[in-house]
Amino acid sequence: MASSIRVLRVDVVTPFPGMFRALEESIPGRAQAAGRLILGLHNPRDETDDPHRTVDDAPFGGGGGMVLKVDPIFRTVERICATAGKGEVILLSPQGDVLTQRIVEQLAALDHWVLVCGHYKGVDERVREHLVDREVSIGDYVLSGGELAAMVLIDAAVRLLPGVVGNPATVSSDSHTTGLLDHPHYTRPEVFRGWSVPGVLLSGDHGAVAQWRREQVLLRTLRNRPDLLDSVFLSEEDQRILARHGWSLSNGSRRDARQMEVGNGHTRHRESDADA
Ligand code: SAH
Repeated sequence: MASSIRVLRVDVVTPFPGMFRALEESIPGRAQAAGRLILGLHNPRDETDDPHRTVDDAPFGGGGGMVLKVDPIFRTVERICATAGKGEVILLSPQGDVLTQRIVEQLAALDHWVLVCGHYKGVDERVREHLVDREVSIGDYVLSGGELAAMVLIDAAVRLLPGVVGNPATVSSDSHTTGLLDHPHYTRPEVFRGWSVPGVLLSGDHGAVAQWRREQVLLRTLRNRPDLLDSVFLSEEDQRILARHGWSLSNGSRRDARQMEVGNGHTRHRESDADA
């Protein structure tokens, strides 16, 4: 479909552009080679006036660590937006919205991001107050800089661009995309050190394979992330499978299908129920 050819432009503001060489590999690398991901790297050092090209300074009020200066970041983002258009300006920060597949999906639907990477103690607060549209965290822990977080965001979004991952079914069954965890995968050989692949996968019976996979999806989620079961639509059959393994709908957690469809993006899950 011609309408599905989309390009994601990502401009990154970082004093360490060399770190982004990691995105030359694998799927992000292929997306760049195919022109589906356009990555611009911008060093705020290039927007400084002093001979040392200083991008950080000591915090007002004292205390340890350095803070990225406001002016080089503003100038860099303004130059990007003047040439490439106004993108969604996103600050990577441990104080932001914690990244989920839903946020990745929202962001992957946009055409242009400007990612601002902090370092050391972080960035001057005026960046957050006056330049940034949203703050994203990749989890409740602290990194030394925003670069790896930016790469996490880019990698997660690029694989959702139509056509970047060969078979769309691959992406739509992944963990968290359906709201549940993925089923196990096996490939050749059939037996390794005496450990065999589940027989059903070799049976050629597509119905039985689909049923086994659905069961595994439910059991994995029950075992590893039971919290996820509260926010997806579960068919009667799903509930029977789970009940056989000791799960029960707790009071008030039963939700009807319409309620589940509102705002949580899990409608695809319902379609895959029909397949299973
Ligand atoms: N003093 C700050 C942390 C600074 S860490 C605070 O406590 O909030 C330095 C930089 O690393 C941050 O500015 C941010 O860009 C990046 N960073 C650290 N942890 C991150 C996380 N969990 N998600 C996204 N970016 C993070």
